[in-house]
Amino acid sequence: MDLGSMKIKKFRSLSFKLTLWYIVILGGIIILAGIFQYHSFKDSLLDELDAKLLEIADETYETWYHKRGVSWEEAIRETTGKFPSYQPLIQLVKLQEEKGKKIKEVIHTTSIEEGSFLFDVRTYYRADRSNIDNLVYMTLSEGKLGSFPIRTILFPVRGPNIVQVGISLENTEFDLRRLMFIMILAGSGLMLLSSLGGNFIIRKALKPVKSVVQTAKAISTDDLSLRIEAGQRQDEIGELVDTFNDMISRLEKSVKKIKQFSGDVSHELRTPLTIIRGEIEVLLRKERDKEEYQKTLKSTLEEAAYLERIIDDLLFLSRIEALEKKEFKKLVQLDEILLKVVESQELAAKKKSISLDIKKVEPAKINGEEILLERMVTNLIDNAIRYTHPGGKVKVSLDKKDGTFTLLVQDTGIGIPEESLPLIFDRFYVVDKSRFKETGGLGLGLSIVKRVASCHGGKIEVESEVNKGTSFLVHFSI
Ligand code: ADP
Repeated sequence: MDLGSMKIKKFRSLSFKLTLWYIVILGGIIILAGIFQYHSFKDSLLDELDAKLLEIADETYETWYHKRGVSWEEAIRETTGKFPSYQPLIQLVKLQEEKGKKIKEVIHTTSIEEGSFLFDVRTYYRADRSNIDNLVYMTLSEGKLGSFPIRTILFPVRGPNIVQVGISLENTEFDLRRLMFIMILAGSGLMLLSSLGGNFIIRKALKPVKSVVQTAKAISTDDLSLRIEAGQRQDEIGELVDTFNDMISRLEKSVKKIKQFSGDVSHELRTPLTIIRGEIEVLLRKERDKEEYQKTLKSTLEEAAYLERIIDDLLFLSRIEALEKKEFKKLVQLDEILLKVVESQELAAKKKSISLDIKKVEPAKINGEEILLERMVTNLIDNAIRYTHPGGKVKVSLDKKDGTFTLLVQDTGIGIPEESLPLIFDRFYVVDKSRFKETGGLGLGLSIVKRVASCHGGKIEVESEVNKGTSFLVHFSI
């Protein structure tokens, strides 16, 4: 087996594509949710830290303010000691009141290296103008005081002085990294599990499609009896299976018809040929007189003519098989066609002492092909004459009503039994085989009528009563 093509097939499979889409969409949602979660967690950590910075700054100021006589150095040292777990960096930045912006003095503990925990002068003056609602928070980038950035508050107090408190972001960053790690781990696990689950569900949902494919592969024109098990499914797959089964049923019927038809054709062609051959063989067995030769030749000629008619009709049928109404661009006069056919059939009717009458003929223009319509009308009138006893009547009419032309061929003939009515338009169907020779029917005439009518958009109706007569109506919508 070609592994390369197998791989490609797998990548092209619907379940693979659906799983891929599922993973992409799910992954997108998980990543977006993760980003949102990460940022809101970060914001809440920073908010917490900022609140702590404010608390420490305030505490430093309060210590200095309330304990009169305490120097800023002592207040800073004392406050630092109160928040050991945060290890805050505290310093007081004294600003010059007049003569330009300048830092006058910076008071801090020894743990802060000189000048290492300072922003530029403008930042301090901006902090001096701030109040409790818009306090200045800054982040001192890493490297200046250790390897982590330092979140800092610039808290203005009387002076103008700024109490500057900083807390390293080491713990915050550590917490954020841990969160990130947990989220990546949980997200990947979730993705893996959901992909497996999703793939399982998709495969399960598509399993019936596989069985459709397998059955479809097993079906051939030789065996159309196979059907796909639909089970109790009421879903789309159930619908697909039903549609598929219906299609196979229709296909089975048509193939059966085709097989039946080809069997019928061979049979119909074979019978006259066997007769011809038999008659010639008998004739050749010994010397015959002239009359006998003539009789046999006449009979073989009749059989040959019969064969020719079958082949003619079959060829005609196959020619009109694929025709459609929209192919007819020309308007033809159906009334004129009818009159012409009646005229041509008058002799045959007269020979059988049948009256062939025209009741009413309205002018009727339809899109169509004259030769085909002429053949259709001829077949109907010819049948009416053939299946009517001498002395009977055949009436024809062409009526216009509610936007429809209706052609009627009515006879007082032998009629058609009810059970045969659905079959008379089938190829080679004849109601009474024993009458075959007498009436000369091939069983193709009405198939031609039906085909010509349908390719002109016409609909046929038959009403018949045995021994009373038959009416054929063909309706053409204008
Ligand atoms: P056929 O060549 O045998 O006439 P058709 O296809 O024209 O073949 O007709 C099929 C069968 O329908 C005929 O064999 C005949 O039994 C029946 N049929 C057709 N037209 C009439 C009619 N006007 N009256 C009675 N039977 C008819």
